[in-house]
Amino acid sequence: MEDTPEADKTDFIRELIRSDNAKGLHGGRVQTRFPPEPNGYLHVGHVKSICLNFGVAHEFDGTCNLRFDDTNPEKESAEFVAAIEQDLQWLGFTSATGPLFASDYFEQLFAWAVQLVEAGLAYVDDQSAAEIAEARGDFTTPGTNSPWRDRLVEENLDLLHRMKAGEFGDGERVLRAKIDMTHANMSMRDPLMYRIRHVTHHRTGDDWCIYPNYDWAHGQSDAIEGVTHSFCTLEFENNRELYEWFLDSLGLPASRPQQTEFNRLSLTHTVLSKRKLAHLVDTGVVSGWDDAQMPTVRGLRRRGYPAAALRDFCAHISVGKVSGTTEVELLESFVRTELNRVSERRMAVLKPLKLVLTNWPEGHVEMRTVVNNPEDESAETREVPFSGELWIERDDFMVDPPKKFFRLAPGREVRLRSGYFVTCTNVVYGDDGELTEVHATYDPETAGGQAPDGRKVKATMHWVSASHAIEAEIRLYNRLFTDSHPGSGDSDPLDSLNVNSVEIVTAQVEPALVETQPGQVVQFERIGYFARDLDESMLFHRTVGLRDEWSRIQKRT
Ligand code: ATP
Ligand code: MG
Repeated sequence: MEDTPEADKTDFIRELIRSDNAKGLHGGRVQTRFPPEPNGYLHVGHVKSICLNFGVAHEFDGTCNLRFDDTNPEKESAEFVAAIEQDLQWLGFTSATGPLFASDYFEQLFAWAVQLVEAGLAYVDDQSAAEIAEARGDFTTPGTNSPWRDRLVEENLDLLHRMKAGEFGDGERVLRAKIDMTHANMSMRDPLMYRIRHVTHHRTGDDWCIYPNYDWAHGQSDAIEGVTHSFCTLEFENNRELYEWFLDSLGLPASRPQQTEFNRLSLTHTVLSKRKLAHLVDTGVVSGWDDAQMPTVRGLRRRGYPAAALRDFCAHISVGKVSGTTEVELLESFVRTELNRVSERRMAVLKPLKLVLTNWPEGHVEMRTVVNNPEDESAETREVPFSGELWIERDDFMVDPPKKFFRLAPGREVRLRSGYFVTCTNVVYGDDGELTEVHATYDPETAGGQAPDGRKVKATMHWVSASHAIEAEIRLYNRLFTDSHPGSGDSDPLDSLNVNSVEIVTAQVEPALVETQPGQVVQFERIGYFARDLDESMLFHRTVGLRDEWSRIQKRT
């Protein structure tokens, strides 16, 4: 991938790496990893972690692995693995080695567990999950030792092998690290290493019925791969001590991974946890993980968010040690900036009103040349049919306009973009008293929208020739949640669900829109950016509107 603005970035993580390199740690080598659990789809929070891990590796001439943390077979599947790989590729990142899996290390992890048992640093506990939880104590109360804590090494080894061999039922026994039940850090109170689960794993099948816990699998997987810097989000701060304890206790070489925590991404009006996102899918609030309203990579992609805009956004917010919530308008402004640069302009009328040019030659059709992207000359021009019956926006016309309304009104002249000047002469109402047509005359001298006598008009409007127009379904999105922090505290995000989050209209659009590719985003002149759906043909999703709400927010604060 090309260098992004990240190349000369600085933040505490880049500083840390520079300082590690200066000290000669890891011989100056930088290796990171992105470790998703394949139990759901990636969301924009993961994108922050991806940009960090792959970005840092790229900047320091290192490598980044994609490693699936597949240690919970109940919730994981090959389908999620494939989806995550696709999403990563779409985002523009490639792992150094092809996908890696924690499940490939199950044998090594088990051998190391045996080593810890032999060293008297791990034991088999027969207590139930409830008893274990009860005996852990809490922040103010020390935990109490399990009655099985002082089992002899031989007995522990025997039980561990029998656990692995499938002699016991789910939850009957666990393997725990023997650390300190009164430790101030709860993570250090004899944490679980293995639990019994008689379930089929999507990769190891029925080879195993004991599965390693996160803390036992994670740091050791990092060490096996030769990861130098292991970045995770701040909630894992307390796990760092355990991460180090395991590596210390195994006596691994000095050049070994080091865990560093950074602040996770939270966005206003958005939920970003797989559990909460799954809830939206399960309750039918959205049509699936790839619904255009979802903050998943698939949803954002369907919505028309360019991968480059997501990367630029992540580079801009950077990483730090303080958690907070980022305004979703900031993300949208990156999307708008990128789309303004790359997307072609088209004309679409969302609320159509018929405009009849009474002096237009009967049956005549003229091809008007229209610029595709004023920001990009190489995008060239296209031909758009113009005729005597056009669709214009209902909101661009008023019978009795107030002072500040400069668009079409009886007796007034306006410009039709790349077309002609037209002057409203008459208004036609239907039997129900509803406005049905606006009549106007055009000035043949103003082809292309310029008057040779230099006279000015105050408005330029978009239009579509009625007989050439194509119908398209347009989905206009508003915030999915009205609350800026949905689900904060103990509240259910669904309490602030916006029942009007989608508005569906049938628009009249110019014929060139038939040629739009699935997923391609165009700017509908004067309206916003719209992405053609990935599956359905004449369906367009509003990606973002034209107005830069972020700059308004900044001015206010
Ligand atoms: P979720 O909270 O959405 O369920 P998770 O942390 O359980 O996410 P994982 O698959 O374990 O999901 O995450 C893979 C990596 O992505 C982890 O290193 C995790 O720290 C990181 N990550 C997840 N959510 C965010 C976020 N909101 N901001 C930054 N990084 C994140
Ligand atoms: Mg997780």
